Amino acid sequence: MNFETTTPLLTAEEIGDSHMMTSVDTPVRQDAFERSDEEKIERIAGLFRGIMEELGLNLDDDSLNGTPYRVAKMYIKELFDGLDPKNKPKLSTFDNKYGYRKMLVEKDIRVSSACEHHFLPIVGRAHIAYIAESKVIGLSKINRIVEYYSHRPQVQERLTLQIYHALRSALGTDSIIVVIDAEHLCVSARGVKDENSRTTTLEYGGAFAKEDYRKEFFDIIK
Ligand SMILES: [Zn+2]
Repeated sequence: MNFETTTPLLTAEEIGDSHMMTSVDTPVRQDAFERSDEEKIERIAGLFRGIMEELGLNLDDDSLNGTPYRVAKMYIKELFDGLDPKNKPKLSTFDNKYGYRKMLVEKDIRVSSACEHHFLPIVGRAHIAYIAESKVIGLSKINRIVEYYSHRPQVQERLTLQIYHALRSALGTDSIIVVIDAEHLCVSARGVKDENSRTTTLEYGGAFAKEDYRKEFFDIIK
């Protein structure tokens, strides 16, 4: 198996921010962000009301009445706010003044996403490490970038790659590893109903192509 990363280096703008499609981009339409959030919420509420009505629910009931709006607002402002490039966190970096050259590991970062095939939750943890060259990044920015790309209808493989590429372009190094370990509710709560299976995906490059670096990383996150 070839562990070298062969994906070409993309800038942050090319990933998700532009309409140029690459294999790691979430497939969104050209006109995806022409309507305002408020317009989208209103339209989605109407559409979701239709789904509920078709299921036979009585929308006059107090408890159900506000659901279409709540779902619509949750989609636009929380679950899927990572679709819109205006919500992308600024990945400001600092000069590596102290010359720290070893691995920095941030583990157990919460992943809360939704699978794009069933719109059911994907919940798990991300573990990320990088070896700084000239630039370092604020730790909370790593959490923010995981959150941003998680807040889209996703597949775990693409989520892993998007996080890797965003960090790579911010940090100017390939020496990054991203591991995601998650449970998919479309596997555990429906279909084969396997509550115990989890899915692990990883992407890495640079120094992490060497097995001893990966081993050190996996020993730390264990
Ligand atoms: Zn699914």
